[in-house]
Amino acid sequence: MPSFESAWLSPPLADPDPPLGKIIDVLGLTDLSPCPRRTAGRWLAGALLVMLLAALCLPATAAAVTSRVLVIYSYGRLLPANIEADRGVQQVLAATAGGTTVVHHEFLDAPLFSGPAHEDRFARYLAEKYADKAPDVLIVFSQEALAFILRRDPRLFPATPVVHAGVEPPSLQRLGPLPPHVIGATVSHDFVRTAELALRLHPDTKRVLVVTGASERDRDWEARIRDESRRFDGLVRLEFLSGLATRDVLARLRGLGPGDLVYTPGYFQDGDGVIAVPVGTARAMAAASTAPVYAPYYLGTGVVGGYMHDYESVGRNAAQTARKLIEGAAPAALAASAAEPVGLQLDWRQLRRWKIDADSVPADAVLEFRERSFFEENKLAVVMTFFIITVQFASIAWLLAERRRRQSAELAVAQQRHELTQVSRRAMTAELMGAIAHEINQPLSAILSNADAAELGLKGGPVSPELLSEIMADIHHDAIRASEVVKSLRSLYARGTVQGEPVDLNAMLAKVESFLRVECKRRGVSVDVVGSAQAVVVVVGRIETQQVLINLVLNAMDAVDGQPDDRRQVKVTLQTQGGTAVVVVSDRGPGIAPEHLPRLFEPFFTTKPNGMGLGLSISRRMIEAYEGTLSAANAPEGGAVFRIVLPLAPSTDAAPGQSA
Ligand code: ADP
Repeated sequence: MPSFESAWLSPPLADPDPPLGKIIDVLGLTDLSPCPRRTAGRWLAGALLVMLLAALCLPATAAAVTSRVLVIYSYGRLLPANIEADRGVQQVLAATAGGTTVVHHEFLDAPLFSGPAHEDRFARYLAEKYADKAPDVLIVFSQEALAFILRRDPRLFPATPVVHAGVEPPSLQRLGPLPPHVIGATVSHDFVRTAELALRLHPDTKRVLVVTGASERDRDWEARIRDESRRFDGLVRLEFLSGLATRDVLARLRGLGPGDLVYTPGYFQDGDGVIAVPVGTARAMAAASTAPVYAPYYLGTGVVGGYMHDYESVGRNAAQTARKLIEGAAPAALAASAAEPVGLQLDWRQLRRWKIDADSVPADAVLEFRERSFFEENKLAVVMTFFIITVQFASIAWLLAERRRRQSAELAVAQQRHELTQVSRRAMTAELMGAIAHEINQPLSAILSNADAAELGLKGGPVSPELLSEIMADIHHDAIRASEVVKSLRSLYARGTVQGEPVDLNAMLAKVESFLRVECKRRGVSVDVVGSAQAVVVVVGRIETQQVLINLVLNAMDAVDGQPDDRRQVKVTLQTQGGTAVVVVSDRGPGIAPEHLPRLFEPFFTTKPNGMGLGLSISRRMIEAYEGTLSAANAPEGGAVFRIVLPLAPSTDAAPGQSA
């Protein structure tokens, strides 16, 4: 990496002092004619050019550096605290006066290099190096560098203001009263607060091992810690591992167990006289220790943390003081500088390693090295993935639920259909059985009456063969009717339509009247049948249609039952209307209740105590089987009106069968 100075001062031309001829050559003037007049002119042009270039270049070089700051570090270049402090210095001084301040760095390299001879050589080196680049301000980091500057020959950087940083108060005291041009802020290990914190984070601690080194500086730290640790007497046992060989220290730390803690400021020299850097010793101790290690610096080396200085901020503060001095402030005006603040810094990885309860960590702690969880690292991707998966799951679940719902709906429909089929099959069977029972009741009753009549006749004496033959013919006829009723009902329920034959309704009505004559007489009901003047031929099942008419008349007779004599009337009329035959059966009964009208033709609907509720439903089924209609209504003058409409048979030459 180029030095700060070289980055700013490298001149734009490769050769800072190029010969005039070369410049002229660059411009192509060497090719001009060598005539004396022209030679004089050529030299004049060259001189002017040189002056112009000087005017352009010199102010730029002069403006590049207006002040110099020399930073002298006590320890090696790569000490983490030095690197941090330097970052702070650069942050402030790089921005100073448009970047015209140059920062130089020197390293005393204590404790690897120390003693008066080293200091002499170092002083000579600085004197020669900065002979014509004298710094305007010195910044010295830590006590060794400050001591060096104070001890030096006053001719090395005479009266140059000095800003010290990173020096501990006891060291400062030992150096005696500072001259007025030396100012700065101190740093101090806060052992007490760090120890208190460690005990709070590890409430079961029984023993704290304090590890310090063998150098003078290490002994300083040890003395201070021994002094300050008296406040923990009785609370916890303190054991000092001071000035031991590094291998012994590490061996002790490897054998620690629960209830132990380690505190160390690190050390510069171990018991074997081996020189070290505190950060290195802290790292080795943290790696070896089987108990948590607390320290005033060195976060990131494996120590848990502690109250420590932020060296970047220490560097920044020193540089700010230096800048004020550059800008002309008097050192005396800036002298009253306090100690640098400390803050609690903890290594997040160590908190996890030692299973330290996050709730017990003070809220103002700065947690470094926090490992971001996979979720934190890929928050957007995780959220998006989760969202997409959730949506997918939801859609799949919804589709599955939909499919299940559809399947169960289909199942339910199939079930219902099956049940409906079963029910309608049962209903059909019941209806058919009821219909047969209903319809053959009449022929059977007629057979019974005829059989009774014959028996009575025979008991009373000899019966004429003609009467017997008539009775037997009636019985025979009724038996055939019953059989045909059964047959036609079966075919009606089986197929829904039946084959008809041309029938004259006039003849059929006359037959029905004769059938019911006895019954009318018995009930005291008058049945008035008004036929048509011409034959009204329809194509129907003869027996079924006759049954329908009988049913309707019997219902009408039921309706007028219990009515006054003048209303015990039933009327049956036959007419043709357009291409249809219309049979109307009306009565003077109470009529049909409006709420019953819509249900009248439903199978098993009845309002009669002994009714079956099948007559009307069978009748409608029969009429509809021959393309006809059967409807019911109430007459305006009272009573019910049943109306059969059947298509007239197409006229044929063959006369229709007259027998009904
Ligand atoms: P049922 O005669 O066994 O009751 P129907 O199917 O023949 O069965 O008649 C169904 C119902 O229609 C009867 O119970 C009755 O309430 C009503 N009904 C039928 N004919 C008449 C009518 N002429 N006047 C009033 N109500 C009637």
